[in-house]
This record gives sequence, structure tokens and C-alpha cells, in this order.
Amino acid sequence: MDWMNLAKNVIGGYDCLREEARAILHEDDAGLLGLINGAYAIRHHYYGKKVKLNMIINAKSGRCPENCAYCSQSIYADTDVQNYALVDQKTLVNGARQAKENHIGTYCIVTSGRKASNREIRAVASAVRQIKEEMSIKVCACLGLIDKDQADALKEAGVDRYNHNLNTSARYYDEVATTHHYEDRVQTIEAVKDAGISPCAGGICGMGETDDDILDMAFAVRTLDSDSIPVNFLRPIPGTKFADKDELTPNRCLKILSMFRFVNPKKEIRIAGGREYNLRSMQCLGLYIANSIFIDGYLTTGGQGESKDMQMIRDMGFEVEENAFETQSQDL
Ligand code: SF4
Repeated sequence: MDWMNLAKNVIGGYDCLREEARAILHEDDAGLLGLINGAYAIRHHYYGKKVKLNMIINAKSGRCPENCAYCSQSIYADTDVQNYALVDQKTLVNGARQAKENHIGTYCIVTSGRKASNREIRAVASAVRQIKEEMSIKVCACLGLIDKDQADALKEAGVDRYNHNLNTSARYYDEVATTHHYEDRVQTIEAVKDAGISPCAGGICGMGETDDDILDMAFAVRTLDSDSIPVNFLRPIPGTKFADKDELTPNRCLKILSMFRFVNPKKEIRIAGGREYNLRSMQCLGLYIANSIFIDGYLTTGGQGESKDMQMIRDMGFEVEENAFETQSQDL
């Protein structure tokens, strides 16, 4: 397929079809650079050479009653993650100060658990109010399933974005978790949108799903109109149900990222967890497709470190887009 021609059509407003998206996943390795070139044309059209940086604080860790098969914080996993309740406001605000000093655009407050209690929502909202009074930084909350009233409270406090990933397709969901359902996740995203918070929803690849599952997910986030799409690549963690799933290659990851870019051309595509583990020496090629990454590691796994990430961005001639995301990306 002529990927540059498809890219030009997509930039012109054409909606990439499912069979075209499938062809991206099936592209030969020999055609990979041409595919990335097309994906980069789209990325460059909407985001130029800007890279959005995100930093996570694991604000409440471990002891989660849900059984997500990839997660080290589930009580069903045999891991030695730290267990602690929601950290205090001072810790949340200090994390935001550190993020600001490190030129991070979006500070992500993440808690373990099925859903946040109203007390936890109030505590996070209070911290976000202080953060917003003190500094200019975007805040994303990721507190599990929430309803409209809780989303309203977060919006009122100044939360800019809420992350709740679809994780996989509706069809494959029961292989990943059974203590909650795919539709629960969709309802949370709808509540977030109803409250006027920018939705962030993506998923995880490399969990044994088929191409059709990945395609379902890419088209589901397009239908949900998710502003930000984190694409995680499973880093199998010993002690979890998916500890032995290690099926991704760097080239496969690049094709998946390209597919998400063609299907969701204007959206913030983020290379999320598992970037270093799965893309390895090809990480910089991922940034020609995606326009957003996490810095400084993930919830329970480390990254390659801020200095190497910043070096990569500089080496590529890219620039950090500090303190900025738009709910709809704009032509540069
Ligand atoms: S992903 Fe979230 S909900 Fe699932 S087990 Fe881990 S902490 Fe719990």
C-alpha cells in the first residue's frame, strides 16, 4: 500500500478504514520505514516536532481487589509491590512541583483500586486545587471507575484530564479481568466526558489478543473521541497471570503505533508503559509516530531515566511541548 498517499488522504479528512488499519498491522518489516514515514507525515501535520511529557505519581499502591491479569498491584498477583493508602496532599503537591521543574506538561495522579471512594475524590480534588493555585501544569487523574458526580467534583477542582483505559477489546476483556467489565470502563469514560473533562483512554498490547482485538480497541477509542490515547506494550511482570506473555517485537510495536496514528490522526498518541522494554533501541522511531511519552518510569516499573529520554528528544531535533495539551489538536 502507498502509505504516504493514505497519510495525505487522512490529513485531508479521510477516515482510515478497518481493512486499511489491518493492512498496517500486516505490513512486512521491509515496508516498515515507508509506513513510519506516512505516520510521521500525519504526526508532523498536527504536532510538528513537539513531544508532550507526562509524569506519574503512584498515589495509592497495591492491595487492589480487581484481577487485571497484567497488574502487579492486584491481590491476585504474587508480587512485592509497595502497599500504601492515598498519600497526603503535601506529597501530591510536591510531586507536581517536581514535575513542573522537570518541564512536564501533564502530571498524572494514579491510584490503585476498583474505584475511588468519595473521601479519596475529595482529597485528590483538594490537592488539585492547591496545585492549580500554585503553578501552571495540566493534571490528569486516574482513580478507577467513577460516576458523573465524582467526575463533576474533579472537574470543579481543576482536573484537566481523566485516564481510564479500555485495555483491550470487549471480546477479549474476560481474559484480562473478570471482576469488572469492558462496559464499566466505557461508562466511566462517558461520565468523564459528560463532566467536561478531557478523556484519555487507550490500552495494552501484547496480552495474547488478536489483530482484531487491537483493531477493535483503536476504533473504539475513535468512537469514544478520546483526546489522548496511551498505547501500552505489556511488560510481563513475574507473579502476574500474564508473566509468561512476551510476544512483542519492536517492529510489531511500531506497526501498532502507526495503526493508532492512522486511525486517530489528530489525537495525542502516547507510547506508555513497556516502551523501553519492548521498543528497546527503536524507541526513537516510535516518537516519529507518537507525540507523547511518560518520563521517569511508570506505576511499579522504572523507565530509562529522564536524562536518556531528554537526550533522545534532543537527538531527534524534537522539542518538549511544555504545559500544553489541547483537547483537539491543531495544525501547526
Ligand atoms: S489495573 Fe488498576 S484496577 Fe486493575 S488490578 Fe491493577 S490497580 Fe487494580
